[in-house]
Amino acid sequence: MDKLKNNWFSEACEMWPGATFSFEVKKILHSEKSDYQDILVCESTSLGKVLVLDGIIQCTEKDEFSYQEMISFLPLCCHKNPEKVLIVGGGDGGVAREVAKHPKVKEIVQVEIDAKVIEVSKKYLPFMAVGFDSPKLKLHVGDGFEFMKNHSQEFDVIITDSSDPVGPAVNLFQENYFALMKSALRPNGIVCSQAGTVWNDLELVSNTLKFCKNQFPKATYGYATVPTYPSGQIGFVIGSLDSEIKFDEPQLVLTSEDEKAMNLKYYNSEIHKAAFVLPTFVKNHLA
Ligand code: SAM
Repeated sequence: MDKLKNNWFSEACEMWPGATFSFEVKKILHSEKSDYQDILVCESTSLGKVLVLDGIIQCTEKDEFSYQEMISFLPLCCHKNPEKVLIVGGGDGGVAREVAKHPKVKEIVQVEIDAKVIEVSKKYLPFMAVGFDSPKLKLHVGDGFEFMKNHSQEFDVIITDSSDPVGPAVNLFQENYFALMKSALRPNGIVCSQAGTVWNDLELVSNTLKFCKNQFPKATYGYATVPTYPSGQIGFVIGSLDSEIKFDEPQLVLTSEDEKAMNLKYYNSEIHKAAFVLPTFVKNHLA
């Protein structure tokens, strides 16, 4: 573990050279190399439990709800009737936990490439892995890209909760993946993919959005704040087959009672609208 020095973990990565986020580690709970990636779970002094894959923070107990709620509820609430949902990746279970809360979702299919991430999350990260207990969920272990080739006109919403485009997730950021997702969707279907941060990866954001726009009549980028991701921000590329869609007008508007009943801590209908308001330098770059 060369990224751990004097009990401090530093997330150095070629995608954001010259700057790094660090946190103090109380205890290493698990460390192994799976067939796909290095898996590390730590107990930290200020962020709770932290899942790290290939040296990159995936989620921390303190702020994971922000990412999981936004990548789930932005596309689900843009859709009039999201009955059948596919999750690609999401091995910690947090997105399944959120998707299962939506009142119109009847069936969730999830395909995660690494069985070890699921196993480790069930053992050490039960607050997220609780998503795997949903009776709505059918979980498959396999490559999301390959899975997509064998499914046609089946899903209302596809959420790609993948790791960054290094290692097993590289294919999930290519244009042919967006083409495959398009054919796996039912009419008026929506896709939502983790798409990087505007501060460190503006080229990644703009390429992913371009790939999505090439395949879908309507596409946009929305974002959430997540303090433990590089630069504290992360975004989602969202594409829709419905050419009349207005992404910033949620189809399901939640009351504060709904938010409480669904235990939502970040997503609400106002932040849904605000998520698509972009800073000028981003708007200009993505135009
Ligand atoms: N919230 C996280 C983030 O953006 O950092 C992502 C969390 S989730 C743990 C990412 C998951 O994507 C990992 O468990 C990884 O194994 C899975 N994954 C990567 N490539 C994949 C692929 N080609 N097919 C299915 N799952 C994949």
